[in-house]
Amino acid sequence: MKYYSTNKKTPEVNLQDAVVKGLAADKGLYMPDQIKRLPDSFFEHIEELSFQEIAYQIADAFFGEDVPADKLKSIVYDTLTFDVPLVPITESIFSLELFHGPTLAFKDVGARFMARLLGYFIRKEGTKDVNVLVATSGDTGGAVANGFVGVEGIHVYVLYPKGKVSEIQEKQFTTLGKNITAIEVDGNFDDCQALVKAAFLDADLSEHMRLTSANSINVARFLPQAFYYFYAYAQLKTLGKAQNLVFCVPSGNFGNITAGLFGKRMGLPVKRFIASNNNNDIFYQYLQTGVYTPKPSVVTIANAMDVGDPSNFVRVLDLYKGSYEAIKKDISGATYDDDQISETVQEVYDETHYLLDPHGACGYRALSEGLQPGEIGVFLETAHPAKFIDTVEQIIGDKVHIPAKLAVFMKGEKLSIPMSKDFASFKSYLMKK
Ligand SMILES: *Cc1c(COP(=O)(O)O)cnc(C)c1O
Repeated sequence: MKYYSTNKKTPEVNLQDAVVKGLAADKGLYMPDQIKRLPDSFFEHIEELSFQEIAYQIADAFFGEDVPADKLKSIVYDTLTFDVPLVPITESIFSLELFHGPTLAFKDVGARFMARLLGYFIRKEGTKDVNVLVATSGDTGGAVANGFVGVEGIHVYVLYPKGKVSEIQEKQFTTLGKNITAIEVDGNFDDCQALVKAAFLDADLSEHMRLTSANSINVARFLPQAFYYFYAYAQLKTLGKAQNLVFCVPSGNFGNITAGLFGKRMGLPVKRFIASNNNNDIFYQYLQTGVYTPKPSVVTIANAMDVGDPSNFVRVLDLYKGSYEAIKKDISGATYDDDQISETVQEVYDETHYLLDPHGACGYRALSEGLQPGEIGVFLETAHPAKFIDTVEQIIGDKVHIPAKLAVFMKGEKLSIPMSKDFASFKSYLMKK
């Protein structure tokens, strides 16, 4: 399969180049030049398949031409060593729990897949080391670091905003050592993202080392996120509730929801999507006005969604050929401030005893306010509440149980490299590597 750049000013590339390059030379994001529709027979029997079996069918549609079937199958099966259960909250609202992976957030799926696919390409090709640069507003760093730790021939640099991620999040990428280096940037997430982008476009650096990205801009990270939309549908079908399906996605960089939109193009019967924002409401404002106006990000208690210029917006635009009308037909928006997020966590906990994390709370609330009669809503519960333990405990006035997987990270020792937000210092650091 060929991949084109959303800016269309650079030639199409194959999968390997798209994965290794991450960002196209014209600064665009790669898109597969085909989105294959899956046969009706697949959807008719989908509930009889396991998560891994479903995911393999989706992976095959995108990557099957470029990766031998047995390899692709083992990449998929090895990525998905955990379940993604659909848990009912009310009669019509379900939580798709994406937090059962190693770092307890949905990004485990894309990060684990990408690490394995990149590892496959590097092995196929011989030795050359690849350096993965990743900017994180919280969860990406942990997911990518844990997805890649110990993978030979790959070194990962995680750039994160000093003081703006929770302690648990920080520990997930600063304590691993080995091929993982954490870089603590004196700035916000957008500064980290800008450093990564600048590094990719810098001629001296590309001469000096092989760089790639593991942000959700990378096709190997964002496309596998389509897997669980299909699996959610399969689980609803088993319950006889798969009609009039609405997916609500707590959104930051818009990689997760874009994967869902791809799923719909592949034939997944989704009625519509809701993109739920925190106070960083750039996409929400776009839906209201038709004008996209990036802004500096603001800090919220749903910090993995603190993004002021969502990188995957260009993919959404490209998918809908730039049509504002078409986008509005498939996607509506919501935006909640910290008080509303807290209120939702509290209310749902009091009424149902289900503990939402602040991101999932944005998803739940948009469904509880926006679902029409006869619709079934699934929100993506993107992280375990214990990852935001201080916030959540303060809201509910109760202790939150820390899963064993998280407790292990907390025992590790933090190691990080302090860095200013200007590119010159980051560049000179990398030039010495
Ligand atoms: C990354 C993240 C999001 C936002 O996902 P995007 O793909 O960037 O829109 C939402 N919730 C959590 C917990 C995250 O880690």
